[in-house]
Amino acid sequence: MSVEAPAPPAPVANFLRDIAASDLAEGRHTGIVTRFPPEPNGYLHIGHAKAICISFGIAEDLKGRCYLRFDDTNPVKEEQEFIDAIQRDVRWLGYDWGKHLYYASDYFEQLYAWAEHLIGKGLAYVDDQTAEETRANRGTLTAPGVNSPHRQRSVAENLDLFRRMKAGEFPAGARVLRAKIDMAAGNINLRDPVLYRIIHAAHPRTGTAWCIYPNYDFAHGQSDAIEHVTHSLCSLEFEDHRPLYEWFLDHLPVPARPRQYEFARLNITYTILSKRHLTQFVRDKHVNGWDDPRMPTLAGLRRRGVPPEALRDFIKRAGVARANSVVEIAMFDACVREYLNKAAPRFMAVLRPLKVVIENYPEGEGEELDAVNNPEDPTAGSRKVPFGREIYIEHDDFMENPPKKFYRLSPGKEVRLRYAYFITCREVVKNAGGEVTELRCTYDPLTRGGNAPDGRKVQATMHWVSAAKAIAAEVRLYNPLFNRPDPGADGDPAQDLNPNSLDVIAAAKLEPALSAATVGATIQFERLGYFCRDPDSGLVFNRTVGLRDTYAKAP
Ligand code: ATP
Ligand code: MG
Repeated sequence: MSVEAPAPPAPVANFLRDIAASDLAEGRHTGIVTRFPPEPNGYLHIGHAKAICISFGIAEDLKGRCYLRFDDTNPVKEEQEFIDAIQRDVRWLGYDWGKHLYYASDYFEQLYAWAEHLIGKGLAYVDDQTAEETRANRGTLTAPGVNSPHRQRSVAENLDLFRRMKAGEFPAGARVLRAKIDMAAGNINLRDPVLYRIIHAAHPRTGTAWCIYPNYDFAHGQSDAIEHVTHSLCSLEFEDHRPLYEWFLDHLPVPARPRQYEFARLNITYTILSKRHLTQFVRDKHVNGWDDPRMPTLAGLRRRGVPPEALRDFIKRAGVARANSVVEIAMFDACVREYLNKAAPRFMAVLRPLKVVIENYPEGEGEELDAVNNPEDPTAGSRKVPFGREIYIEHDDFMENPPKKFYRLSPGKEVRLRYAYFITCREVVKNAGGEVTELRCTYDPLTRGGNAPDGRKVQATMHWVSAAKAIAAEVRLYNPLFNRPDPGADGDPAQDLNPNSLDVIAAAKLEPALSAATVGATIQFERLGYFCRDPDSGLVFNRTVGLRDTYAKAP
Protein backbone atom coordinates (compact mmCIF):
# COMPACT_ATOMS: atom_id res chain seq x y z
CA MET A 1 0.00 0.00 0.00
CA SER A 2 2.38 2.69 -1.09
CA VAL A 3 2.04 5.43 -3.66
CA GLU A 4 4.41 5.26 -6.57
CA ALA A 5 6.40 8.30 -7.55
CA PRO A 6 4.37 10.32 -10.05
CA ALA A 7 5.00 9.44 -13.69
CA PRO A 8 6.67 12.24 -15.68
CA PRO A 9 3.97 14.74 -16.62
CA ALA A 10 2.66 14.43 -20.16
CA PRO A 11 3.06 17.60 -22.23
CA VAL A 12 0.04 19.86 -22.50
CA ALA A 13 -0.66 20.90 -26.09
CA ASN A 14 -1.74 24.53 -26.19
CA PHE A 15 -1.27 27.84 -27.95
CA LEU A 16 1.39 29.01 -25.51
CA ARG A 17 3.46 25.93 -26.16
CA ASP A 18 3.10 26.60 -29.88
CA ILE A 19 4.37 30.18 -29.48
CA ALA A 20 7.38 29.01 -27.49
CA ALA A 21 8.05 26.16 -29.93
CA SER A 22 8.06 28.45 -32.95
CA ASP A 23 10.25 31.02 -31.17
CA LEU A 24 12.68 28.19 -30.63
CA ALA A 25 12.38 26.83 -34.18
CA GLU A 26 12.87 30.28 -35.68
CA GLY A 27 15.94 30.94 -33.57
CA ARG A 28 14.54 33.78 -31.46
CA HIS A 29 15.79 31.90 -28.40
CA THR A 30 18.36 29.19 -27.89
CA GLY A 31 16.37 27.74 -25.00
CA ILE A 32 12.97 28.30 -23.41
CA VAL A 33 12.86 29.68 -19.88
CA THR A 34 9.59 30.06 -18.00
CA ARG A 35 8.82 30.69 -14.36
CA PHE A 36 6.06 30.15 -11.84
CA PRO A 37 5.86 33.24 -9.61
CA PRO A 38 3.66 32.64 -6.53
CA GLU A 39 3.25 35.25 -3.85
CA PRO A 40 3.89 33.45 -0.54
CA ASN A 41 0.74 34.80 1.10
CA GLY A 42 -1.28 31.59 1.14
CA TYR A 43 -1.28 28.00 -0.04
CA LEU A 44 -1.44 26.99 -3.69
CA HIS A 45 -4.83 26.01 -5.10
CA ILE A 46 -6.02 24.18 -8.22
CA GLY A 47 -5.88 27.41 -10.20
CA HIS A 48 -2.19 27.69 -9.42
CA ALA A 49 -1.81 24.06 -10.47
CA LYS A 50 -2.95 25.14 -13.91
CA ALA A 51 -0.33 27.88 -14.04
CA ILE A 52 2.31 25.43 -12.79
CA CYS A 53 1.39 22.76 -15.33
CA ILE A 54 1.53 25.33 -18.13
CA SER A 55 4.88 26.89 -17.28
CA PHE A 56 6.65 23.75 -16.08
CA GLY A 57 4.96 21.65 -18.76
CA ILE A 58 6.07 23.85 -21.66
CA ALA A 59 9.63 24.06 -20.35
CA GLU A 60 9.77 20.31 -19.95
CA ASP A 61 8.24 19.66 -23.34
CA LEU A 62 10.68 21.98 -25.12
CA LYS A 63 13.67 20.89 -23.06
CA GLY A 64 13.95 24.28 -21.44
CA ARG A 65 13.82 25.31 -17.79
CA CYS A 66 11.16 26.54 -15.44
CA TYR A 67 12.07 28.49 -12.32
CA LEU A 68 10.22 28.80 -9.08
CA ARG A 69 10.30 32.43 -8.06
CA PHE A 70 8.62 33.81 -4.99
CA ASP A 71 7.06 37.18 -5.63
CA ASP A 72 7.80 38.27 -2.07
CA THR A 73 7.32 42.01 -2.29
CA ASN A 74 4.70 42.52 0.42
CA PRO A 75 6.09 41.49 3.84
CA VAL A 76 2.81 42.27 5.58
CA LYS A 77 1.10 39.20 4.15
CA GLU A 78 3.96 36.85 3.44
CA GLU A 79 5.23 34.06 5.66
CA GLN A 80 7.86 31.34 5.71
CA GLU A 81 5.09 28.77 6.28
CA PHE A 82 3.71 29.64 2.85
CA ILE A 83 7.16 29.56 1.21
CA ASP A 84 7.67 26.02 2.54
CA ALA A 85 4.15 24.84 1.66
CA ILE A 86 4.41 26.13 -1.92
CA GLN A 87 7.64 24.23 -2.53
CA ARG A 88 6.17 21.04 -1.07
CA ASP A 89 3.08 21.40 -3.26
CA VAL A 90 4.90 22.09 -6.53
CA ARG A 91 7.06 19.02 -5.90
CA TRP A 92 4.03 16.93 -5.04
CA LEU A 93 2.45 17.93 -8.32
CA GLY A 94 5.49 16.36 -9.98
CA TYR A 95 7.61 19.34 -11.00
CA ASP A 96 11.19 20.20 -10.20
CA TRP A 97 12.87 23.59 -10.50
CA GLY A 98 16.30 22.06 -9.88
CA LYS A 99 18.64 24.70 -8.52
CA HIS A 100 16.48 27.51 -9.88
CA LEU A 101 14.74 28.66 -6.73
CA TYR A 102 14.56 32.45 -6.72
CA TYR A 103 12.99 35.27 -4.79
CA ALA A 104 12.06 38.72 -6.00
CA SER A 105 13.69 39.86 -2.75
CA ASP A 106 17.02 38.59 -4.14
CA TYR A 107 16.77 41.52 -6.53
CA PHE A 108 15.85 44.30 -4.10
CA GLU A 109 19.23 46.02 -4.55
CA GLN A 110 19.04 45.85 -8.34
CA LEU A 111 15.41 47.00 -8.39
CA TYR A 112 16.30 49.88 -6.12
CA ALA A 113 19.17 50.89 -8.43
CA TRP A 114 16.78 50.79 -11.38
CA ALA A 115 14.30 52.99 -9.51
CA GLU A 116 17.08 55.56 -9.05
CA HIS A 117 17.88 55.14 -12.75
CA LEU A 118 14.31 56.11 -13.65
CA ILE A 119 14.47 59.09 -11.28
CA GLY A 120 17.72 60.16 -12.94
CA LYS A 121 16.04 60.07 -16.35
CA GLY A 122 13.12 62.13 -15.10
CA LEU A 123 10.85 59.09 -15.40
CA ALA A 124 9.93 58.66 -11.74
CA TYR A 125 9.04 61.00 -8.89
CA VAL A 126 8.24 60.94 -5.21
CA ASP A 127 4.62 61.74 -4.55
CA ASP A 128 3.31 62.99 -1.20
CA GLN A 129 -0.39 62.70 -1.96
CA THR A 130 -2.44 60.69 0.48
CA ALA A 131 -3.83 57.37 -0.70
CA GLU A 132 -7.27 59.01 -1.04
CA GLU A 133 -5.92 61.89 -3.12
CA THR A 134 -4.02 59.48 -5.34
CA ARG A 135 -7.16 57.43 -5.88
CA ALA A 136 -9.31 60.48 -6.57
CA ASN A 137 -6.77 61.88 -9.04
CA ARG A 138 -6.35 58.65 -10.95
CA GLY A 139 -9.47 59.33 -13.05
CA THR A 140 -11.80 56.68 -14.38
CA LEU A 141 -12.19 54.55 -17.48
CA THR A 142 -13.84 57.52 -19.19
CA ALA A 143 -12.11 60.47 -17.49
CA PRO A 144 -8.36 61.15 -17.55
CA GLY A 145 -6.46 61.46 -14.30
CA VAL A 146 -5.06 64.63 -12.77
CA ASN A 147 -1.34 65.27 -12.46
CA SER A 148 0.03 65.18 -8.94
CA PRO A 149 1.20 68.55 -7.59
CA HIS A 150 4.56 66.82 -6.94
CA ARG A 151 5.00 65.53 -10.47
CA GLN A 152 7.43 68.29 -11.45
CA ARG A 153 9.93 67.79 -8.63
CA SER A 154 13.55 68.02 -9.71
CA VAL A 155 15.67 64.92 -10.12
CA ALA A 156 17.79 66.01 -7.15
CA GLU A 157 14.79 66.47 -4.88
CA ASN A 158 13.32 63.13 -5.98
CA LEU A 159 16.61 61.34 -5.34
CA ASP A 160 16.94 62.92 -1.94
CA LEU A 161 13.39 62.05 -0.92
CA PHE A 162 13.60 58.51 -2.29
CA ARG A 163 16.85 57.90 -0.38
CA ARG A 164 15.26 59.21 2.76
CA MET A 165 12.27 56.95 2.18
CA LYS A 166 14.71 54.06 2.03
CA ALA A 167 16.51 55.30 5.15
CA GLY A 168 13.27 55.06 7.10
CA GLU A 169 12.71 58.76 7.70
CA PHE A 170 9.00 58.66 6.88
CA PRO A 171 6.03 56.77 8.23
CA ALA A 172 4.15 54.18 6.16
CA GLY A 173 1.96 55.78 3.53
CA ALA A 174 3.63 59.20 3.74
CA ARG A 175 5.20 59.01 0.29
CA VAL A 176 5.46 56.72 -2.70
CA LEU A 177 7.67 56.54 -5.75
CA ARG A 178 5.71 56.71 -9.00
CA ALA A 179 6.66 56.28 -12.62
CA LYS A 180 6.09 59.41 -14.68
CA ILE A 181 4.18 58.09 -17.67
CA ASP A 182 0.83 59.66 -18.58
CA MET A 183 -2.08 60.57 -16.31
CA ALA A 184 -4.36 60.65 -19.37
CA ALA A 185 -3.43 57.18 -20.65
CA GLY A 186 -6.41 55.07 -21.69
CA ASN A 187 -4.89 52.19 -19.74
CA ILE A 188 -5.14 53.14 -16.09
CA ASN A 189 -2.09 51.03 -15.26
CA LEU A 190 -0.03 53.62 -17.15
CA ARG A 191 -1.30 56.59 -15.10
CA ASP A 192 1.87 57.10 -13.12
CA PRO A 193 1.82 53.70 -11.37
CA VAL A 194 3.30 53.35 -7.92
CA LEU A 195 6.71 51.66 -7.92
CA TYR A 196 7.66 51.75 -4.25
CA ARG A 197 5.76 52.15 -1.03
CA ILE A 198 6.90 52.52 2.57
CA ILE A 199 6.18 49.45 4.69
CA HIS A 200 7.75 49.23 8.12
CA ALA A 201 7.47 45.47 8.48
CA ALA A 202 9.99 42.67 8.77
CA HIS A 203 10.35 40.59 5.65
CA PRO A 204 10.66 36.78 5.93
CA ARG A 205 13.97 36.90 4.03
CA THR A 206 15.42 40.39 4.21
CA GLY A 207 14.35 41.08 7.78
CA THR A 208 14.42 44.79 8.54
CA ALA A 209 16.98 45.68 5.85
CA TRP A 210 14.28 47.46 3.87
CA CYS A 211 11.33 49.65 4.71
CA ILE A 212 10.43 50.44 1.11
CA TYR A 213 9.19 47.64 -1.12
CA PRO A 214 8.66 47.49 -4.88
CA ASN A 215 5.16 46.62 -5.94
CA TYR A 216 4.27 43.69 -8.18
CA ASP A 217 4.51 45.54 -11.48
CA PHE A 218 7.93 47.01 -10.81
CA ALA A 219 9.35 43.73 -9.51
CA HIS A 220 7.85 41.24 -11.86
CA GLY A 221 9.07 42.01 -15.36
CA GLN A 222 12.49 43.07 -14.14
CA SER A 223 12.82 39.79 -12.22
CA ASP A 224 11.92 37.99 -15.44
CA ALA A 225 14.61 39.97 -17.26
CA ILE A 226 17.27 39.31 -14.59
CA GLU A 227 16.56 35.58 -14.85
CA HIS A 228 16.52 35.65 -18.66
CA VAL A 229 13.01 34.30 -18.71
CA THR A 230 11.89 34.05 -22.33
CA HIS A 231 8.15 33.49 -21.91
CA SER A 232 6.44 34.98 -18.87
CA LEU A 233 3.09 33.21 -18.71
CA CYS A 234 0.33 34.49 -16.48
CA SER A 235 -3.42 34.66 -16.19
CA LEU A 236 -5.56 37.13 -18.14
CA GLU A 237 -6.00 39.71 -15.39
CA PHE A 238 -2.42 40.75 -16.13
CA GLU A 239 -3.18 41.54 -19.76
CA ASP A 240 -3.77 45.23 -18.94
CA HIS A 241 -0.47 45.27 -17.12
CA ARG A 242 1.48 44.15 -20.18
CA PRO A 243 2.01 47.72 -21.55
CA LEU A 244 3.52 48.66 -18.20
CA TYR A 245 5.62 45.48 -18.16
CA GLU A 246 7.00 46.57 -21.53
CA TRP A 247 7.42 50.20 -20.53
CA PHE A 248 9.80 49.20 -17.75
CA LEU A 249 11.78 46.92 -20.07
CA ASP A 250 11.97 49.76 -22.61
CA HIS A 251 13.25 52.29 -20.10
CA LEU A 252 15.64 50.26 -17.98
CA PRO A 253 19.06 48.77 -18.82
CA VAL A 254 17.77 45.22 -18.33
CA PRO A 255 19.90 42.25 -19.42
CA ALA A 256 17.17 40.47 -21.40
CA ARG A 257 13.83 41.01 -23.04
CA PRO A 258 11.17 38.61 -21.73
CA ARG A 259 7.67 38.59 -23.19
CA GLN A 260 4.45 38.20 -21.31
CA TYR A 261 1.60 36.03 -22.57
CA GLU A 262 -1.73 35.46 -20.88
CA PHE A 263 -4.13 32.57 -20.51
CA ALA A 264 -7.57 32.26 -18.93
CA ARG A 265 -7.76 31.45 -15.24
CA LEU A 266 -9.18 28.15 -14.16
CA ASN A 267 -12.66 28.43 -12.65
CA ILE A 268 -14.55 25.44 -11.27
CA THR A 269 -18.16 25.11 -10.18
CA TYR A 270 -18.76 24.82 -6.40
CA THR A 271 -15.22 26.10 -5.87
CA ILE A 272 -13.61 29.36 -4.79
CA LEU A 273 -10.14 29.95 -6.20
CA SER A 274 -9.19 33.21 -4.60
CA LYS A 275 -6.52 33.36 -1.94
CA ARG A 276 -8.29 36.26 -0.29
CA HIS A 277 -11.39 34.19 0.36
CA LEU A 278 -9.51 31.00 1.16
CA THR A 279 -7.51 32.99 3.73
CA GLN A 280 -10.80 34.20 5.19
CA PHE A 281 -12.19 30.64 5.49
CA VAL A 282 -9.07 29.56 7.36
CA ARG A 283 -9.00 32.63 9.58
CA ASP A 284 -12.71 32.41 10.43
CA LYS A 285 -12.40 28.65 11.03
CA HIS A 286 -14.98 27.63 8.45
CA VAL A 287 -12.45 24.91 7.63
CA ASN A 288 -9.73 23.27 9.70
CA GLY A 289 -6.74 24.98 8.14
CA TRP A 290 -5.27 25.32 4.67
CA ASP A 291 -4.98 21.57 4.22
CA ASP A 292 -8.57 20.80 5.19
CA PRO A 293 -9.65 18.19 2.63
CA ARG A 294 -12.60 20.41 1.63
CA MET A 295 -10.25 23.15 0.49
CA PRO A 296 -9.29 23.44 -3.20
CA THR A 297 -5.68 23.82 -2.10
CA LEU A 298 -3.11 21.32 -3.26
CA ALA A 299 -2.43 20.51 0.40
CA GLY A 300 -6.15 19.87 0.95
CA LEU A 301 -6.48 17.71 -2.15
CA ARG A 302 -3.42 15.71 -1.16
CA ARG A 303 -4.84 15.14 2.30
CA ARG A 304 -8.14 14.07 0.75
CA GLY A 305 -6.28 11.47 -1.28
CA VAL A 306 -6.35 13.03 -4.75
CA PRO A 307 -3.33 11.70 -6.66
CA PRO A 308 -1.20 14.32 -8.44
CA GLU A 309 -1.56 12.35 -11.68
CA ALA A 310 -5.32 12.80 -11.58
CA LEU A 311 -4.97 16.51 -10.92
CA ARG A 312 -2.60 16.93 -13.86
CA ASP A 313 -4.94 14.97 -16.07
CA PHE A 314 -7.77 17.28 -15.06
CA ILE A 315 -5.72 20.40 -15.83
CA LYS A 316 -4.86 18.96 -19.21
CA ARG A 317 -8.47 18.16 -20.03
CA ALA A 318 -9.65 21.58 -18.87
CA GLY A 319 -7.36 22.98 -21.56
CA VAL A 320 -5.44 26.20 -22.08
CA ALA A 321 -7.17 29.04 -23.86
CA ARG A 322 -7.61 32.78 -23.72
CA ALA A 323 -11.39 32.63 -23.29
CA ASN A 324 -12.69 32.51 -19.73
CA SER A 325 -14.79 29.50 -18.85
CA VAL A 326 -16.01 27.50 -15.88
CA VAL A 327 -15.23 23.82 -15.59
CA GLU A 328 -17.67 21.44 -13.89
CA ILE A 329 -16.47 20.01 -10.58
CA ALA A 330 -17.92 16.69 -11.81
CA MET A 331 -15.17 16.63 -14.41
CA PHE A 332 -12.57 16.90 -11.69
CA ASP A 333 -14.18 14.07 -9.74
CA ALA A 334 -14.32 11.97 -12.91
CA CYS A 335 -10.57 12.40 -13.48
CA VAL A 336 -9.88 11.35 -9.90
CA ARG A 337 -12.14 8.31 -10.19
CA GLU A 338 -10.71 7.27 -13.51
CA TYR A 339 -7.20 7.29 -12.17
CA LEU A 340 -8.05 5.60 -8.89
CA ASN A 341 -10.15 2.92 -10.54
CA LYS A 342 -6.96 1.65 -12.13
CA ALA A 343 -4.58 2.37 -9.30
CA ALA A 344 -6.37 1.96 -5.98
CA PRO A 345 -6.34 -1.39 -4.15
CA ARG A 346 -9.75 -2.53 -2.88
CA PHE A 347 -10.69 -3.22 0.71
CA MET A 348 -13.92 -3.80 2.58
CA ALA A 349 -15.23 -1.35 5.12
CA VAL A 350 -18.66 -0.92 6.66
CA LEU A 351 -19.55 2.66 7.45
CA ARG A 352 -22.83 2.09 9.31
CA PRO A 353 -22.55 -1.41 10.74
CA LEU A 354 -25.47 -3.79 11.21
CA LYS A 355 -24.57 -7.03 12.94
CA VAL A 356 -25.39 -10.31 11.24
CA VAL A 357 -25.23 -13.62 13.13
CA ILE A 358 -24.89 -16.65 10.86
CA GLU A 359 -26.71 -19.24 12.95
CA ASN A 360 -25.49 -22.35 11.17
CA TYR A 361 -21.83 -21.25 11.15
CA PRO A 362 -19.94 -23.13 13.86
CA GLU A 363 -19.44 -21.09 16.98
CA GLY A 364 -15.87 -20.12 17.87
CA GLU A 365 -14.59 -20.93 14.40
CA GLY A 366 -13.37 -18.76 11.56
CA GLU A 367 -11.58 -18.92 8.22
CA GLU A 368 -9.64 -16.78 5.77
CA LEU A 369 -11.05 -16.12 2.34
CA ASP A 370 -9.27 -14.91 -0.77
CA ALA A 371 -10.10 -11.37 -1.90
CA VAL A 372 -8.96 -9.74 -5.13
CA ASN A 373 -6.91 -6.59 -4.54
CA ASN A 374 -7.77 -4.83 -7.77
CA PRO A 375 -9.92 -6.33 -10.54
CA GLU A 376 -8.51 -3.66 -12.90
CA ASP A 377 -4.94 -4.72 -12.22
CA PRO A 378 -4.13 -8.45 -12.30
CA THR A 379 -0.64 -7.77 -10.96
CA ALA A 380 -2.11 -6.42 -7.71
CA GLY A 381 -2.71 -9.98 -6.46
CA SER A 382 -4.99 -11.06 -3.65
CA ARG A 383 -5.17 -11.04 0.11
CA LYS A 384 -6.87 -12.99 2.89
CA VAL A 385 -9.97 -11.64 4.60
CA PRO A 386 -11.19 -13.15 7.87
CA PHE A 387 -14.73 -14.53 8.05
CA GLY A 388 -16.69 -15.88 10.99
CA ARG A 389 -20.08 -16.45 12.57
CA GLU A 390 -20.67 -12.76 13.25
CA ILE A 391 -20.16 -10.13 10.61
CA TYR A 392 -21.18 -6.54 9.95
CA ILE A 393 -22.97 -5.43 6.83
CA GLU A 394 -23.96 -1.91 5.78
CA HIS A 395 -27.18 -0.85 7.49
CA ASP A 396 -28.40 0.53 4.17
CA ASP A 397 -28.07 -2.89 2.59
CA PHE A 398 -30.99 -4.23 4.61
CA MET A 399 -34.68 -3.32 4.44
CA GLU A 400 -37.37 -5.05 6.43
CA ASN A 401 -40.14 -4.07 4.02
CA PRO A 402 -38.35 -3.51 0.76
CA PRO A 403 -39.88 -1.83 -2.26
CA LYS A 404 -40.03 -3.86 -5.44
CA LYS A 405 -36.64 -2.96 -6.87
CA PHE A 406 -34.66 -3.44 -3.68
CA TYR A 407 -32.38 -6.39 -4.44
CA ARG A 408 -30.29 -6.46 -1.31
CA LEU A 409 -30.99 -8.16 1.99
CA SER A 410 -34.51 -8.43 3.38
CA PRO A 411 -36.38 -11.16 5.31
CA GLY A 412 -36.26 -14.46 3.44
CA LYS A 413 -33.95 -13.12 0.75
CA GLU A 414 -30.62 -14.65 -0.32
CA VAL A 415 -27.63 -12.48 -1.27
CA ARG A 416 -23.92 -12.97 -1.88
CA LEU A 417 -21.29 -11.77 0.57
CA ARG A 418 -18.39 -10.72 -1.60
CA TYR A 419 -15.55 -13.31 -1.65
CA ALA A 420 -17.51 -15.38 0.94
CA TYR A 421 -20.88 -17.15 0.88
CA PHE A 422 -24.54 -16.81 0.04
CA ILE A 423 -26.57 -15.92 3.12
CA THR A 424 -30.33 -15.83 3.69
CA CYS A 425 -32.04 -13.58 6.21
CA ARG A 426 -34.15 -15.59 8.67
CA GLU A 427 -35.01 -13.20 11.47
CA VAL A 428 -34.89 -9.52 12.34
CA VAL A 429 -33.96 -8.45 15.87
CA LYS A 430 -35.12 -5.02 17.08
CA ASN A 431 -34.63 -2.90 20.17
CA ALA A 432 -37.38 -1.42 22.32
CA GLY A 433 -37.56 1.55 19.97
CA GLY A 434 -38.32 -0.72 17.03
CA GLU A 435 -34.93 -0.17 15.37
CA VAL A 436 -33.27 -3.10 13.67
CA THR A 437 -30.19 -4.04 15.71
CA GLU A 438 -29.26 -7.47 14.39
CA LEU A 439 -30.08 -9.98 11.69
CA ARG A 440 -30.14 -13.74 12.14
CA CYS A 441 -29.12 -15.43 8.91
CA THR A 442 -28.01 -18.80 7.61
CA TYR A 443 -25.29 -19.46 5.07
CA ASP A 444 -24.85 -22.11 2.42
CA PRO A 445 -21.44 -23.76 3.04
CA LEU A 446 -21.38 -24.96 -0.58
CA THR A 447 -21.15 -21.39 -1.89
CA ARG A 448 -17.66 -20.68 -0.51
CA GLY A 449 -15.93 -18.07 -2.67
CA GLY A 450 -19.30 -16.68 -3.78
CA ASN A 451 -20.72 -19.15 -6.28
CA ALA A 452 -23.39 -21.83 -5.94
CA PRO A 453 -22.53 -25.24 -7.42
CA ASP A 454 -26.16 -25.63 -8.53
CA GLY A 455 -25.83 -22.45 -10.56
CA ARG A 456 -28.49 -20.49 -8.69
CA LYS A 457 -28.19 -16.74 -8.86
CA VAL A 458 -28.62 -13.93 -6.38
CA GLN A 459 -29.39 -10.35 -7.27
CA ALA A 460 -26.95 -8.59 -4.97
CA THR A 461 -23.36 -8.85 -3.82
CA MET A 462 -22.61 -7.03 -0.59
CA HIS A 463 -19.51 -6.05 1.29
CA TRP A 464 -19.03 -7.04 4.92
CA VAL A 465 -16.38 -7.36 7.63
CA SER A 466 -15.79 -9.96 10.35
CA ALA A 467 -17.22 -8.69 13.66
CA ALA A 468 -14.49 -10.46 15.62
CA LYS A 469 -11.58 -9.22 13.50
CA ALA A 470 -12.71 -5.83 12.21
CA ILE A 471 -10.95 -2.69 13.38
CA ALA A 472 -12.73 0.55 14.20
CA ALA A 473 -11.89 3.79 12.42
CA GLU A 474 -13.22 7.29 12.04
CA VAL A 475 -14.32 8.06 8.51
CA ARG A 476 -14.78 11.61 7.27
CA LEU A 477 -17.15 12.05 4.37
CA TYR A 478 -16.69 15.30 2.51
CA ASN A 479 -19.35 17.03 0.51
CA PRO A 480 -18.94 20.21 -1.56
CA LEU A 481 -17.88 23.17 0.55
CA PHE A 482 -20.54 25.34 -1.06
CA ASN A 483 -24.22 24.79 -1.61
CA ARG A 484 -24.39 26.53 -4.97
CA PRO A 485 -22.38 26.12 -8.16
CA ASP A 486 -21.40 29.80 -8.23
CA PRO A 487 -20.42 30.65 -4.64
CA GLY A 488 -19.99 34.35 -4.06
CA ALA A 489 -22.20 35.34 -7.00
CA ASP A 490 -24.35 37.33 -4.55
CA GLY A 491 -21.49 38.78 -2.55
CA ASP A 492 -19.56 37.08 0.22
CA PRO A 493 -18.93 33.40 -0.60
CA ALA A 494 -18.91 32.65 3.15
CA GLN A 495 -22.70 33.00 2.95
CA ASP A 496 -22.81 30.10 0.51
CA LEU A 497 -20.88 27.62 2.65
CA ASN A 498 -22.55 24.22 2.85
CA PRO A 499 -23.27 23.48 6.53
CA ASN A 500 -23.14 19.74 5.71
CA SER A 501 -19.77 19.71 4.01
CA LEU A 502 -18.35 17.26 6.57
CA ASP A 503 -20.05 14.15 7.86
CA VAL A 504 -18.01 12.30 10.50
CA ILE A 505 -18.59 8.60 11.09
CA ALA A 506 -17.03 7.88 14.44
CA ALA A 507 -16.90 4.09 14.38
CA ALA A 508 -16.83 2.49 10.99
CA LYS A 509 -15.68 -1.15 10.84
CA LEU A 510 -12.77 -1.99 8.54
CA GLU A 511 -11.08 -5.18 7.48
CA PRO A 512 -8.02 -5.65 9.68
CA ALA A 513 -5.42 -5.18 6.92
CA LEU A 514 -6.29 -1.48 6.99
CA SER A 515 -4.62 -0.97 10.34
CA ALA A 516 -1.42 -0.77 8.23
CA ALA A 517 -2.83 1.69 5.68
CA THR A 518 -0.27 4.28 4.58
CA VAL A 519 -1.01 7.98 4.87
CA GLY A 520 -1.28 9.34 1.36
CA ALA A 521 -2.08 6.03 -0.33
CA THR A 522 -5.60 6.15 -1.68
CA ILE A 523 -7.63 2.95 -1.61
CA GLN A 524 -11.14 1.89 -2.51
CA PHE A 525 -13.67 0.78 0.06
CA GLU A 526 -15.69 -1.58 -2.10
CA ARG A 527 -19.03 -0.15 -3.17
CA LEU A 528 -18.44 3.04 -1.15
CA GLY A 529 -15.78 5.12 -2.81
CA TYR A 530 -12.13 6.07 -2.58
CA PHE A 531 -10.57 6.86 0.76
CA CYS A 532 -7.22 7.91 2.11
CA ARG A 533 -5.77 7.61 5.57
CA ASP A 534 -5.49 10.97 7.28
CA PRO A 535 -2.22 12.06 8.94
CA ASP A 536 -4.18 12.68 12.18
CA SER A 537 -3.20 10.37 14.98
CA GLY A 538 -5.49 7.37 15.35
CA LEU A 539 -7.06 5.59 12.45
CA VAL A 540 -8.92 8.16 10.37
CA PHE A 541 -9.91 7.94 6.71
CA ASN A 542 -10.96 10.76 4.41
CA ARG A 543 -13.28 10.18 1.51
CA THR A 544 -11.48 11.26 -1.64
CA VAL A 545 -14.47 10.85 -3.94
CA GLY A 546 -17.52 8.60 -4.22
CA LEU A 547 -17.83 5.94 -6.89
CA ARG A 548 -20.49 7.75 -8.87
CA ASP A 549 -21.33 11.24 -9.82
CA THR A 550 -24.00 11.45 -7.15
CA TYR A 551 -22.43 9.92 -4.09
CA ALA A 552 -22.57 6.16 -4.09
CA LYS A 553 -25.86 4.51 -3.34
CA ALA A 554 -25.53 0.76 -3.08
CA PRO A 555 -26.67 -1.05 -6.24
P1 ATP B 1 -5.36 34.63 -6.04
O1 ATP B 1 -6.28 35.39 -6.92
O2 ATP B 1 -5.88 33.30 -5.63
O3 ATP B 1 -4.83 35.42 -4.90
P2 ATP B 1 -2.97 35.21 -7.39
O4 ATP B 1 -2.84 35.27 -8.84
O5 ATP B 1 -3.07 36.53 -6.76
O6 ATP B 1 -4.14 34.26 -6.97
P3 ATP B 1 -0.24 34.42 -7.11
O7 ATP B 1 0.47 33.73 -6.04
O8 ATP B 1 0.20 35.78 -7.49
O9 ATP B 1 -1.77 34.45 -6.69
O10 ATP B 1 -0.33 33.50 -8.40
C1 ATP B 1 0.77 32.92 -9.01
C2 ATP B 1 0.42 32.61 -10.44
O11 ATP B 1 -0.70 31.73 -10.48
C3 ATP B 1 0.05 33.85 -11.22
O12 ATP B 1 0.86 33.89 -12.37
C4 ATP B 1 -1.38 33.67 -11.58
O13 ATP B 1 -1.59 34.09 -12.90
C5 ATP B 1 -1.60 32.18 -11.45
N1 ATP B 1 -2.99 31.87 -11.05
C6 ATP B 1 -3.61 32.23 -9.91
N2 ATP B 1 -4.88 31.82 -9.89
C7 ATP B 1 -5.08 31.14 -11.05
C8 ATP B 1 -6.19 30.44 -11.63
N3 ATP B 1 -7.38 30.37 -11.01
N4 ATP B 1 -6.02 29.87 -12.85
C9 ATP B 1 -4.83 29.94 -13.47
N5 ATP B 1 -3.76 30.57 -12.99
C10 ATP B 1 -3.86 31.17 -11.79
MG1 MG C 1 -1.14 37.73 -7.62
